[in-house]
Amino acid sequence: MTDRDKRAPATDCVHAGETQLPGAMGINTPVVTSTTFDYREGGVRYPRYVNALNHEVVAGKIAALEGAQAARVSASGMGAISAVFLSLMKPGDHAVILDGLYGGTTDLVEGLLEPMGMRFTTWNGDPDSLAACFEKNTRLLMVESPTNPLLSIVDLAATAKIAREHDVVSFIDNTFATPILQRPIEHGFDLVMHSATKYLGGHSDLLCGALAGSTELIERIHPNIVRLGATLNGQDLALLERSIKTLAVRVERASENAAELARRLDRDPRIAETLYPGLPSHPGHSVAANQMSGFGGMLTFRIADSIDPEPFLDRLTMIRPAVSLGGVESTISQPSKTSHAKLSDEKRKALGIDDRLMRLSVGIEGVDDLWDDLDRALGGSSL
Ligand SMILES: *Cc1c(COP(=O)(O)O)cnc(C)c1O
Repeated sequence: MTDRDKRAPATDCVHAGETQLPGAMGINTPVVTSTTFDYREGGVRYPRYVNALNHEVVAGKIAALEGAQAARVSASGMGAISAVFLSLMKPGDHAVILDGLYGGTTDLVEGLLEPMGMRFTTWNGDPDSLAACFEKNTRLLMVESPTNPLLSIVDLAATAKIAREHDVVSFIDNTFATPILQRPIEHGFDLVMHSATKYLGGHSDLLCGALAGSTELIERIHPNIVRLGATLNGQDLALLERSIKTLAVRVERASENAAELARRLDRDPRIAETLYPGLPSHPGHSVAANQMSGFGGMLTFRIADSIDPEPFLDRLTMIRPAVSLGGVESTISQPSKTSHAKLSDEKRKALGIDDRLMRLSVGIEGVDDLWDDLDRALGGSSL
């Protein structure tokens, strides 16, 4: 290593996890597609346990990027989250979860884990009220930051410290921030997960997940990824490796675009409210500025009362209404009709999620082209 003790994340995206293979193989990792192996050789026998070569390279990159001892890749983000809960908790155990986690996580809790006898308390994200949520057999604390769709910020260092004092494993869904902008383990978190379907994959064509943490925790969880059948196959691991090589440039560009669009929307009279952690007016701005190296590509705004949401969405030509996020192309979603459609009207109202709230996943296009699309769709109706 050089005199600097840490490489830039952009370098780790390209080079971490690489293995030296015979020169004739070229500089890219060969794709191992076999589902069966000669067992006299030792090593890999069956790829649900682990596809050794492609898995090791991708896991090595993710561990390096998160500053973790170890990482594992899974067949989806939910596969990773399920394996964590089912590995670290048993019936009767208790966990604290941030209010407003990803809908699939809430559905896992309500649809599978609570019926199995695990117990959960939701927490409002204020570090001062966290200790009171813990019980004698609390095993796990799970948070997200920034959250979906309001982009609220949780103070990671303060939260991890309180969890550690109570001997509770701290676990964060780092999907929105990516390890390029936020490395929770450096702030004291024990375990990090990604829906790699989003920014890590980055091209809206892969379904996968990842976990990073101490070797001890990852070794406790990995057998359950195998038991649940949530292992990722070799072809997709190779595509994920290719995607992560450009993660830093994609995320930096998306983040710059989002910051610029946030500034323009924030001063536009056709917009009632702009929620972006990079804006000084955002309630989590100073905490975000301390724990993130950029504010990310996700941006939420509320259009003014004078503009109808449906025609606004119909008038967009480049930015397509779509539920996922983190791709190179910008997409928009109306949380009241998508991610939060299943909530009761009262709950949506309490959260401030109405039909005028729009969540933009900002891509890597030219920012003026994105602005032109938004500007035209806002249509001067209130001007
Ligand atoms: C999409 C998503 C998940 C679930 O990941 P899958 O890859 O769809 O299983 C979890 N958390 C967040 C924040 C997400 O956006």
